[in-house]
Amino acid sequence: MLIVQKYGGSSVADAGRIKKVARRIAGVKKEGHDVVVVVSAMGDTTDYLIELVKSITSNPGEREMDMILSTGEQVSIALLAMAVKDQGLEAISMTGPQAGIFTDSVHTKARIKEIQCDRVKEELAAGKVVIVAGFQGLNGTGDITTLGRGGSDTTAVALAIALQADLCEIYTDVDGVYTADPRVVKNARKLDDISHDEMLELAHLGAQVLHPRSVELAKIYNITLQVRSSFNHNPGTIVREVSGMEKTMVVTGVAHDLNVARIGLFDVPDRPGIAWKVFRALAGEHINVDMIIQSATRNGVNDISFTVATSDLQKALAVMEKIKDEAGFSGYTWDDGIAKVSIVGAGMATNPGVAARMFEALAKRNINLEMIATSEIRISCIIKSGQAQEAVSALHDEFGLAG
Ligand code: ASP
Ligand code: MG
Repeated sequence: MLIVQKYGGSSVADAGRIKKVARRIAGVKKEGHDVVVVVSAMGDTTDYLIELVKSITSNPGEREMDMILSTGEQVSIALLAMAVKDQGLEAISMTGPQAGIFTDSVHTKARIKEIQCDRVKEELAAGKVVIVAGFQGLNGTGDITTLGRGGSDTTAVALAIALQADLCEIYTDVDGVYTADPRVVKNARKLDDISHDEMLELAHLGAQVLHPRSVELAKIYNITLQVRSSFNHNPGTIVREVSGMEKTMVVTGVAHDLNVARIGLFDVPDRPGIAWKVFRALAGEHINVDMIIQSATRNGVNDISFTVATSDLQKALAVMEKIKDEAGFSGYTWDDGIAKVSIVGAGMATNPGVAARMFEALAKRNINLEMIATSEIRISCIIKSGQAQEAVSALHDEFGLAG
């Protein structure tokens, strides 16, 4: 078999853990499999690099940001390759560019366009364990790009697709995908399996276990993922086209996201093309907009609120300032003390009354809903960030998700 394994930052946080991972890889290799390993930067290295940048400037420029952020993974691949060699195996480390990973030019949020994996295949054929830096690639001008925080998962899934791997394992520091963040909800339960669709929603809604774009890719190419802990040999969670066991549950999981900010626009003229102007300007700056709410029209104007990632708030506010006169709204506010809590479940589409149960559970705890959004298989509410923890526990209880 050809196996792609991805190890997250916590799995390679120090020398001891890197050696442990190397032993794990050696075990798989000695069973006769070919192994490609994708690694993240050691521990909190990426956060540290971001802090380092902040100590120099508040305006680093995104190309230079990618230059520095990509160095974290270059350290971990080299160390892991050395450790694997110490296990008596042949190993070679490769940066994203060396592994033939080509992306678009959107620095700090690049998307993989193509993987030319001849070199990786050659090294595999020569019997080596190939260790590839996650989270990075090369754009058309030959500059290094990164794929967005947590992007190593996406590198792993993309490589698994390009190499037509038999198995793609994502190793992390928890046993798999849980019904809620186990750090917040003590009796959260590990799911044996979950569908691509549900996982995609959870990942987008703030479950940190998988990078959303990795799940998107896995869904499009119908790749089965195994999410497992690198600290034990437990089976983990299988992410696949359709989940088996959990289908009987109306709600599969509860997610929350603190990285949300809301912008509200006042007195937006009620004319065709205004919303287009506002959201085109945001898209032009590569700012993802999540929830959008437009109020009922009064006196020819309405209010529009929308949410963006907190990390994009300053950029989005600058855009609003720029287009204010052209779009014709009278002013705007913002709030970054909010959180999004969501319930996700494929069973929701066919079970009425789920929203009412969610709102009741929150109302009973005096939690005010500031915005609501739904899809076929999820319901999200914006609430005050200070109440997020309580809301998640309440919903976990209400839908009987405890282990
Ligand atoms: N090291 C990068 C980050 O911390 C990429 C990753 O871990 O997947 O976001
Ligand atoms: Mg990480």
